[in-house]
Amino acid sequence: MSAYESARHYFETAASVMDLSPNMKKLLLTPEREVKVQVAMKMDNGEIATFVGYRIQHNSARGPMKGGLRYHSEVNGEEVLALASLMTWKTAVVDIPYGGAKGGITVSPKALSENELETMTRKFIDELQDVIGPNKDIPAPDMGTNAQVMAWIMNQYEKYHGFNPACVTGKPLELHGADGREEATGRGVGLLTEAMLQKLGRSLTGATIAIQGFGNVGSFAAEYLHKHGAKIVAISDVSGAKFDSNGIDVPAALAYARANGSLEGFESEKQLSNEELLALDVDVLIPAALGGVLTKENAGHVRAKFVVEAANGPVDPDADTILQKQGIVVLPDILANAGGVTVSYFEWVQNQQYFRWDLERTRAELAKTLLTSFEKMWAVATEKRIPLRTAAYLMGIGRVGRATVLAGI
Ligand code: GLU
Repeated sequence: MSAYESARHYFETAASVMDLSPNMKKLLLTPEREVKVQVAMKMDNGEIATFVGYRIQHNSARGPMKGGLRYHSEVNGEEVLALASLMTWKTAVVDIPYGGAKGGITVSPKALSENELETMTRKFIDELQDVIGPNKDIPAPDMGTNAQVMAWIMNQYEKYHGFNPACVTGKPLELHGADGREEATGRGVGLLTEAMLQKLGRSLTGATIAIQGFGNVGSFAAEYLHKHGAKIVAISDVSGAKFDSNGIDVPAALAYARANGSLEGFESEKQLSNEELLALDVDVLIPAALGGVLTKENAGHVRAKFVVEAANGPVDPDADTILQKQGIVVLPDILANAGGVTVSYFEWVQNQQYFRWDLERTRAELAKTLLTSFEKMWAVATEKRIPLRTAAYLMGIGRVGRATVLAGI
């Protein structure tokens, strides 16, 4: 099932519980603007390369649109639209004053030199600069992009519009970035995993956890969970999975991945495939890499008691139904990984105020925002006897719908 079909399915499920009118459904499903641009450039060897870039602005009923930019070989318009709509519900679930957008370029960033990456980013922003901006649509990092890319984006945008640090978030600390933004998504995953376990009378201490993906999200989640007493028995990246029944030495794995660019060669008790990691007998399974990793083919093999969606859209609806039937509780992406966009919001607030928060304040505000939303989602799910995902969508769609009606069409 495609990312678009999955996102659509989850929306429809919640819309039917809410009894949303067909007209409102159509309004909320239709993106406000879809931009598809040519990104043409000269490569280091003098040859011309042409890429396709997207920015899909799904909804601005609650504020400027917000969402990451993804550089990945699989980026396509349908997927970007699905991810843009997830951003609309995500910002609404955590109740930050934004709408949702997403963008990206169909490219394998690892195949480009640093210089080519910079040129491509600047060319892309030349095409987007009139539709983005601090009060319109604010990009941020996602797969394949990072703080350096955000710095180029800010610099390129400012060539047209003057000093404007709030035009993009996830920037380096030296360039108006926020302390705590880089760790925020993974930290949020950790905080919420802990909150969920507590709700069900469990504790993080000694809980066994498998994490698929050791990029920005997976690595910071592993760090938080390890520090707070969980036993991370497996981690993985494109090179495969590392398993250790006594718990992976997470600080050593972080240092190794930082020094070597991947986990390839990192010593562990057993080397597994990414697929085998998903089927491990653990308390919590955290897919923190690509979307669509759990499907009807492999969801039946999951032995974890909880799945925390650190990635966007890792569980497709067929898999979701299978997990539900097995009594596995799924913490949905639109809350589980909302820590990133939440601290993006804090960065934007600081940029608008020319003020800087310290890390402690950011962490405290992040915890407050996520845990308040978690409590609300839990209460809705309990009261209506619906899965956490449907409850989160109900909150998100409800808030966007009400803002739309109050503002007037
Ligand atoms: N790309 C991240 C996400 O999917 C962060 C978006 C943001 O910070 O705006 O939530």
